Amino acid sequence: MQKKAPMGPHKLLKICNGFFFGGLGLTAVIYLIGESYQWRGNDVSVFLWIAAGVGILIMAGSLLTAFSKLRCPYCGASLMAGGRVPTDLPHFCPDCGKDLDNCG
Ligand SMILES: [Zn+2]
Repeated sequence: MQKKAPMGPHKLLKICNGFFFGGLGLTAVIYLIGESYQWRGNDVSVFLWIAAGVGILIMAGSLLTAFSKLRCPYCGASLMAGGRVPTDLPHFCPDCGKDLDNCG
């Protein structure tokens, strides 16, 4: 068995982005389904609203995870501070200045 290494910020960012865009896609699809329901004069079912809520929760959860967990592996400074959109990581830690491209 390999020793389990702590998850690097790059890997975590990829996972968060996957969930974010997955949730975004889910919400968009459900929105379109809801629109076509209304277009036909039907009421939008509660199930659709719940599914849309789940999509939004997935998006919010992935953002919260990115903001709370994406930290410099050297000094622990948040890499998402200052309103940075979590789609990209800085090349160097904004706090301690260490190279973040070579840490997992
Ligand atoms: Zn740092």
